[in-house]
Amino acid sequence: MKAARLHRYDDSIPPDSLTVEEIDEPKIENPFDVIVRVGAAGLCRTDIHVVEGQWAPIQDPDGTLLPYVLGHENSGWVEEVGSAVTNVEVGDTVICHPLMTCGLCMACRAGDDMRCENGEFPGLSRDGGFADLLKTNARAVVKLDPVLEPKDIAALADAGLTAYHAVRKSVPLLNAGTRAVVIGAGGLGHIGIQCLKAMTPAQVIVVDPNEKALDLAKDWGADETVQVGEGYLDTVLEMTDGQGAEVVFDYVGERGAEDDAWQMTRAGGSHYVIGYGGTVEVPTIDLISTERSIVGNLVGTYMDLAELMILTAQGKVTLHTSTYPLDAVNDAMQDLNNGNLRGRGILVPDGA
Ligand SMILES: [Zn+2]
Ligand SMILES: [Zn+2]
Repeated sequence: MKAARLHRYDDSIPPDSLTVEEIDEPKIENPFDVIVRVGAAGLCRTDIHVVEGQWAPIQDPDGTLLPYVLGHENSGWVEEVGSAVTNVEVGDTVICHPLMTCGLCMACRAGDDMRCENGEFPGLSRDGGFADLLKTNARAVVKLDPVLEPKDIAALADAGLTAYHAVRKSVPLLNAGTRAVVIGAGGLGHIGIQCLKAMTPAQVIVVDPNEKALDLAKDWGADETVQVGEGYLDTVLEMTDGQGAEVVFDYVGERGAEDDAWQMTRAGGSHYVIGYGGTVEVPTIDLISTERSIVGNLVGTYMDLAELMILTAQGKVTLHTSTYPLDAVNDAMQDLNNGNLRGRGILVPDGA
């Protein structure tokens, strides 16, 4: 089968970062294995970080992982199942939760998929979905409403799931009359905005340096938009009675957004960290005197993904995408890295 593999780490993201080549097809080895014919695979900034080698100390400590297939936002059709698989059949349309979980550890039993003690991550710790076929397991696949097309929803497997998970946690905090600030109207933020509008009555204020992104944010349902620049923090504070928002979602997490997010969070409010790269530095006296919370968010659970797919089938969440053939994976990587990718990049194998 055809697959796009990483052969060497290189922090310059060269134009030949990945090699599109013929490799052996995955085989059913475990009774719970599921092989998916990939219909679409989302391209993520994490793929850039994988090429840069940022994940190597965690995913490849022995240096034995390369070459391997990237791609962790996958959707397609069930091609083959192991002997114990009962939840999907050959031909079903599925989206894959990014983690292959065991179902037996305490975290799995609590529904806390991302903390599975035996989890494996296709596209990060083993072969992923930039290929004709992907091997995952029965616990990872969510069977989809047939109205959904893999190329329209693949990126919800990770980007969408991450945005949804954070909003889902905030629902009890965002009653009528409350305000939510969304920092960053990009790949994750635009899904977060739609989830907020679908799931809470909060007024949604979106901040971003890019005017075009703010125009799109209005289309996604933002009540107010503020362009990041001189004095913008004061504008946001004025919109929130000078006190800040009940919940601030920081989908950026670096380049100063992590400081601004804290400034925009009102006393008793919550600062949700979703994007990463920077450092949150807060005096302890500010934390205790205002009882503000800083909340970390990591991808999402299987249930989060199942719920997000229902919102999507209802037409309440849609993805803004740019499609590339799998053969053009390196062009897509360059476009993402150079800021020339509009919406979420989606790779489609031949014939899918
Ligand atoms: Zn990702
Ligand atoms: Zn587990």
